[in-house]
Amino acid sequence: MTQTTISERAPGATARPSPQISVVVPMYNEADNLSPLIARLIPVLERCTASFEVVFVDDGSRDNTLEVLRAAHAADPRVTGISFSRNFGKEVAIAAGLDHAHGDAVIIMDADLQHPPEVIETFIEKWHAGFQNVYGQRTDREGDSPLRRWLTEKFYEMFAIFGETRLPPGAGDFRLLDRKAVNALRGMPERARFSKGLYAWIGFRSIGVPFVVADRAHGESKFSYRKLTRFALDGLMSFTTVPLRIWTFIGTLVSTVALILAAYFLIKTAAYGVDVPGYASLIVSILFFAGIQLMSLGILGEYVGRIFAEVKRRPLYLVAERIGTNAIDPTNDAADSPLPVRIVSRSLQ
Ligand code: UDP
Ligand code: MG
Repeated sequence: MTQTTISERAPGATARPSPQISVVVPMYNEADNLSPLIARLIPVLERCTASFEVVFVDDGSRDNTLEVLRAAHAADPRVTGISFSRNFGKEVAIAAGLDHAHGDAVIIMDADLQHPPEVIETFIEKWHAGFQNVYGQRTDREGDSPLRRWLTEKFYEMFAIFGETRLPPGAGDFRLLDRKAVNALRGMPERARFSKGLYAWIGFRSIGVPFVVADRAHGESKFSYRKLTRFALDGLMSFTTVPLRIWTFIGTLVSTVALILAAYFLIKTAAYGVDVPGYASLIVSILFFAGIQLMSLGILGEYVGRIFAEVKRRPLYLVAERIGTNAIDPTNDAADSPLPVRIVSRSLQ
């Protein structure tokens, strides 16, 4: 496949040297937060580095986030972005941001100013000190509702028990990743993306930087309990196969008990003759095991569904518009190519 240069691919984008730092910001209906965020972020970046870019990913917003982003790019070309054809979710938006971040280090942060831009200074210091995976560690969850906090806590407890990767407490998406770590993440084409798990899975020299989560500047959280449940299931199922394997154990246990019971009834019948009553216990055990079988089938279904989503090999996202930026690797730029052959090239990498 022929390589195309950046300037050939997007007439709007100017070929410029790679910046040192890229900041990736996923946005879903964040029109009100965009300008305040830029106003706080740019001075911090100017203090820390000579060259930077901010890559906003408009995740199919329904408000005028895209217009505000276009205006911001016109005012300052270091502000760039892409706009999805529809809402693909925060995890995919982050993946797309990484595909378009050219920096030697990439910082990921939310658009709602809950992640204080000033903390970035410490991130960059740690990066200069040799850390490749610098994560913000929230010191409290005061801003979340009590129910959400409780559910979050339970989820992380379960993840700690079953998950095959250790998650550092309080670590989220707010972080700095060295180019090496970014490339490692970009090499993971999975659809069900649980970034927190992936960040931990890739390893590299890591360190936490404590920070206090601010209140959301404008608007409200985009995560309903339904979305959070989906996210939690994706997280657990992509990092553990214990729910699948547990049925082997339960099955063996139940069969052993059944064998012992069978022996008991055989001896009892031989000694005392046929004993007809026992309808209630029979019904209860039939219902109980029918329930267990359906449950295990359901869990199998969850995994099969995810396998199905992966094997379809659809592009992770579709770009509707680029604002002053291009994917780092044009051959990997399948998402907005009209040629399906590009998608094949991505999957073979
Ligand atoms: N977000 C996104 N796509 C979505 C939902 C959220 O890009 O489908 C972005 C959102 O604009 C914000 C970040 O992800 O920048 C975190 O979202 P939010 O503040 O709603 O989550 P919370 O802070 O409640 O976890
Ligand atoms: Mg938020």
